[in-house]
Amino acid sequence: MTKTDIKSLTMEDLGQVLGELGMPAYSAKQIFTWLYKKHASDFEQMTNISKSSRRLLSEQFEISTLKILSKKVSQDNTTKYQFLLDDGCTIESVLIPMGRWHTLCVSTQVGCALGCRFCLTGIKGFKRQLGVSEMINQLEGVRSDCPETPVSHIVFMGMGEPFANYDNVMKAIDILTSEHGYQYSAHRITVSTAGLVPQIKRFINESKAHLAVSLNAAYDDARSLLMPVNNTYSIKDIMDAVKDYHRKRKGWITFEYVMIKGINDGIGHAIQFVKLTRDFPCKVNLIPFNRHWGADYEKPDEEHIHAFQEYLLNHNITCMIRTARGEEIEAACGQLGGVKNFEGGD
Ligand code: SAH
Ligand code: SF4
Repeated sequence: MTKTDIKSLTMEDLGQVLGELGMPAYSAKQIFTWLYKKHASDFEQMTNISKSSRRLLSEQFEISTLKILSKKVSQDNTTKYQFLLDDGCTIESVLIPMGRWHTLCVSTQVGCALGCRFCLTGIKGFKRQLGVSEMINQLEGVRSDCPETPVSHIVFMGMGEPFANYDNVMKAIDILTSEHGYQYSAHRITVSTAGLVPQIKRFINESKAHLAVSLNAAYDDARSLLMPVNNTYSIKDIMDAVKDYHRKRKGWITFEYVMIKGINDGIGHAIQFVKLTRDFPCKVNLIPFNRHWGADYEKPDEEHIHAFQEYLLNHNITCMIRTARGEEIEAACGQLGGVKNFEGGD
């Protein structure tokens, strides 16, 4: 009998399964505390659960972990972890220092099917979805490697399109925010999407976590050139979907905008961007294109980046230029999945 990976279950799921096994509902809280607050690796450690229940649990469930295959630290202390999955595939997570705190950028898929032309993960194509525990265990793996490092924010911005793995991402967020789990405030979790409109609408209604949309161009022709998904969901579809974000949340929606020389860095795009977002507040992260072997694009000149930023600032849009973190270890946005073929798996 194959055992269930206990870290793939939300507390509600676990409570239900425990009920079927004849265990009390409160055991789910105890088990969550052991797994996610005390980082237990064996059911025998769960000493406030009876011996017979512990035996039952270890017959039914396994407690999974991810093996760290490699770890690279850049000059700015950004750390890229490469994890080995059970089937031999590998994924990457990036730990980014932000003052005293750290943000962890987690992957949601092995590869990505959306094929954005500027993104190495997209260029390499899609391999498979990540399970809930494979997302949770990226945090757990980093924590076990450096227990003293406080990970204050989680961003679903690593390899993959989170909304193409919607249910698992939502379950992972459930565990991260559970009072008995990691207890993250939903405001400290961000999900970034390339613009899958049906899931954006669901997310706005179902989650309290922050939403970031990778817009990357203000005109459909340029966006479709960069992001084939724009042929399915246009800029207008996205704007219609995010209009009521502010009404439902306290925070503002974030747009990511990868700036590529000669493609989307002209002031015309800034002017159009302001028009597109006239009806609702937003923040913008400008990300100068990070180079990699998979695309011929270049980063715009500094003046273009600053002129673009200034135009948005002058129109009351908070706009940051995101400096590349961990570029020389290929940990910056769009550089994940570096080697030319997926290791293992094939
Ligand atoms: N699939 C999701 C999340 C992962 S990509 C999304 O597209 O939003 C995370 C971010 O990296 C996106 O904003 C994407 O536009 C950006 N990105 C991808 N390739 C890049 C590159 N080469 N340089 C800079 N940013 C890049
Ligand atoms: Fe996928 Fe995001 Fe990369 Fe596009 S930018 S290919 S959606 S990971």
